[in-house]
Amino acid sequence: MVSSGAFRILTLSMSQNCISVFQYPDAVLAVDSGLFRDRMACCYLVEDQDEVAIIEAGGESGARRLLQTIDRRGLRPEQVRWVIVTHVHLDHAGGAGQLMQALPEATLLVHERGAKHMTDPSKLEAGARAVYGDEQYDAIYGSLVPIDPKRVRVMPDGGQVSLGAREFRFIDTPGHASHHFCVHDSRTNGWFSGDTFGLSYRELDTQNGPFIFPTTTPIDFNPDALRSSIEKLGSVDPDWMYLTHFGRIAYSPDLARRLIEGVNHFEQWGLEFENVPDRKQRISAAMTGWLLEAVKKHGVDLPRDRLIELLQPDVDLNTDGIDVWLRRRAKTLSGP
Ligand SMILES: [Zn+2]
Repeated sequence: MVSSGAFRILTLSMSQNCISVFQYPDAVLAVDSGLFRDRMACCYLVEDQDEVAIIEAGGESGARRLLQTIDRRGLRPEQVRWVIVTHVHLDHAGGAGQLMQALPEATLLVHERGAKHMTDPSKLEAGARAVYGDEQYDAIYGSLVPIDPKRVRVMPDGGQVSLGAREFRFIDTPGHASHHFCVHDSRTNGWFSGDTFGLSYRELDTQNGPFIFPTTTPIDFNPDALRSSIEKLGSVDPDWMYLTHFGRIAYSPDLARRLIEGVNHFEQWGLEFENVPDRKQRISAAMTGWLLEAVKKHGVDLPRDRLIELLQPDVDLNTDGIDVWLRRRAKTLSGP
């Protein structure tokens, strides 16, 4: 991992399974949530003085792994002050209810538009079943646990909380989801970026640094909003991006530029194939071709089958998200 800086991998052996934990400087840990495959999604554990914050609750497996990691590090559940979800898609917030049950002193911090889904997750579950299908949904997420509204705090744009000696600042970052915020960490000058700053899998790191591309999971993709949210994150000249998918990468304006280029392509393909009957296949084929070409140019030397295995799930979700955006757009343009 060339440009992502030093880190240490701790493999915590549990009785039934092993958990990969990536330890970055300044007490930031990424816990592999074990969703879909290794190193696809993570949750962060941040420690400062005797306080702990969790950023991203993962699905059921993420919540379980976080609690095991807390235990293995000799931390007490009572030390966890904040459970933060960048948005309420289930790979980020599905395990929040389970975590809150196990962490008696924690307050859940969530975007205003996501809060009601944390106290009553029924619509969230129905929406996720529509995206993933019942079989995959049941295998991954299981039943969602509602959270007592008294333990939920909405974080407004510009809001701040402290953890030990560090400050977390929240900014509204729509574009991937309308209920998305990103969290700035004062100690590392890094952003916990959820899905706003795209996807960057460590398998695709080369001497050219990390490879990055956007995520447009249904149902809120908004290209204009996403571009300005990416610019907003870059405007503070951050040092690090802590991505949920996957891990910490060093920020550079070039990375932001490449990500925005990706958003432009996604938008372009949507508009180009808008009125073609098999538009989803056309968008998906264009995205696959572009990604394969781009990773090759980036110097990634993996067999095509492995690349397809790594990228196809996101191509499918991204295509669905672009399709939903086109349907919403058609409705808006045709008026009430
Ligand atoms: Zn995600």
